[in-house]
Amino acid sequence: MIDLRSDTVTKPTKEMLEAMVASPVGDDVYGDDPSINALEARVASMFGKEAGLFTPTGSLSNQLSIRLLVKPGEELILDQTAHIARAELGAAAAFSGITTRTFPSINGRLNADTALALAHPDAGPYLVSTKAIAVEDTHNFGGGTVQSLDEIQKLYKGAQEMKLPLHLDGARIWNAHVASGIKFSEYGKYFETMSVCFSKGLGAPIGSMMLSTKEKIAEARIWRKRYGAGMRQIGLLAGAINYALDHNIERLKEDHNRAAVIASACGLSKPDTNIVALDVSEYPFDAVQFAGILKENGILAGALGKNFVRLVTHKDLTDSDIEQTCEVLKRTLVTK
Ligand SMILES: *Cc1c(COP(=O)(O)O)cnc(C)c1O
Repeated sequence: MIDLRSDTVTKPTKEMLEAMVASPVGDDVYGDDPSINALEARVASMFGKEAGLFTPTGSLSNQLSIRLLVKPGEELILDQTAHIARAELGAAAAFSGITTRTFPSINGRLNADTALALAHPDAGPYLVSTKAIAVEDTHNFGGGTVQSLDEIQKLYKGAQEMKLPLHLDGARIWNAHVASGIKFSEYGKYFETMSVCFSKGLGAPIGSMMLSTKEKIAEARIWRKRYGAGMRQIGLLAGAINYALDHNIERLKEDHNRAAVIASACGLSKPDTNIVALDVSEYPFDAVQFAGILKENGILAGALGKNFVRLVTHKDLTDSDIEQTCEVLKRTLVTK
């Protein structure tokens, strides 16, 4: 099967497994794992942040971040198709009592004015007070959309005036960096808290990280344990992640090029990064039926909405996988 459901489906290579085995370990709950300590310092410094906290998932690093910014009954503002709003199963409400208000976007593209217009920081005793704004880059359900640095800067400036911190859901910030050339440390300037994932395009089997100030990371460490995610010899994972950071960032270009080839076979324009978002509402099938046709032809795709299909490129695909995919897509989509 050619698996285009997500860039999370990659498997560790022999070299990555060797890096895991070679990684010194200790008990991280005691702060004794040298490899994870070094990894937290490495990634924090890449983004110009003071400290990092390893988490098993990006959902957890998002949730730890926003719970430090927003108290129960207060509000987080974000785009209506954000992962935090749609794909974390209501965790912000269920765990942290956080209410959200969302703004519309086209393909998840950030418009600072739209976000700022919704913010209401000191709403008094009648209305919910906004305490933070979240940005997603690249934007997953938007189709791998890269956010413009101008809009991020504009949002930061407006939010600063209202004393509102920004959170970045940077699960695929690596793809945004490769596509835009924006330095990792540049992103670090605007976001009080950040979440980055190693288990997407970088190809590590497990792992994400929250980045912020030393103080916030110390507090997040307590909450991580409270949520049951205090882990022991996770230096094994640091081995895989260091390998991924050393070898798998620049190669994301290849995933972006291949996504462009697939998009073209669907009659779509070039996507920003590695995600092809296909709207099948003009075709005589819905998303689930379309994914079913692809499956019969050896291709797995994600049916993520009634008419929304997602095809994601990643490092475990071959040239012939892409050729075969394009051939099937052209044949199937000719009925428009
Ligand atoms: C994948 C993803 C996450 C985190 O997902 P986990 O499965 O919890 O690691 C967060 N945000 C975005 C935009 C994602 O695509």
